[in-house]
Amino acid sequence: MTAPTPLIAGNWKMNGDSASLGEALATAAGLGSTKARVAICPSATLVSRMSDALKATNVQVGGQDCRAELSGAYTGDVAAEQLADAGAELVILGHSERRAGYGETNALVAAKTQAALRAGLEPIVCVGETLDERKAGKALEIVTGQVRGSLPAELAGQAFSVAYEPVWAIGTGLTPSTEEIVEVHRAIRATLNEIFGAHGATVAILYGGSVKPANAAEILHADEVGGALVGGASLKAADFLGIIAAV
Ligand code: PGA
Repeated sequence: MTAPTPLIAGNWKMNGDSASLGEALATAAGLGSTKARVAICPSATLVSRMSDALKATNVQVGGQDCRAELSGAYTGDVAAEQLADAGAELVILGHSERRAGYGETNALVAAKTQAALRAGLEPIVCVGETLDERKAGKALEIVTGQVRGSLPAELAGQAFSVAYEPVWAIGTGLTPSTEEIVEVHRAIRATLNEIFGAHGATVAILYGGSVKPANAAEILHADEVGGALVGGASLKAADFLGIIAAV
């Protein structure tokens, strides 16, 4: 089984407007001969324009969430099919800000992941422990439980990635030690192998949480780290390119 192509995905969260498209274009212009696959996931309002702007480039566009249903009376929500129609190729699902802020359970994340596959979107499924869970020695149990619960059987043979994002490392400037990252990534790999057999070895496991140019090389070269999901440092092309260059 071939090792997965590293994926560096930017999660713009609720930041950016049409004026920010220049940062996406500057990222595309600065990629050089990177080995990485690069994606930017902006707010739903920007997906269509960003997809158009990046059409002739090597940067893919993704959404940050989707509804599990195909269509219907769900005011304010976006269907996976609508993201795909707007030009998205990927979608982030189960981010901890959605698990914590909207009560998203593993079962709901799994349903959303099925919706993403239905729409032809490549899911990036997020998992990660809180600080209390880590302090209680439960990080591996929580994370592997989230992997089992959030990944539907339909993912077998499909392209997707898992992002390990310790909740306490997101937007805080704190990161786990490289040993801690490797320990969790190995546990995720073992779980993927158990669920998906040989296909499990082809799934990129991204690290996310305070990745920046200064720590990217060490994190990205650690065992079983197949890329990064980058929040704050993906908003400016110079920072994002600094991370991409570390692959
Ligand atoms: P951060 O966010 O890089 O700003 O810590 C990562 C994420 O939430 O995906």
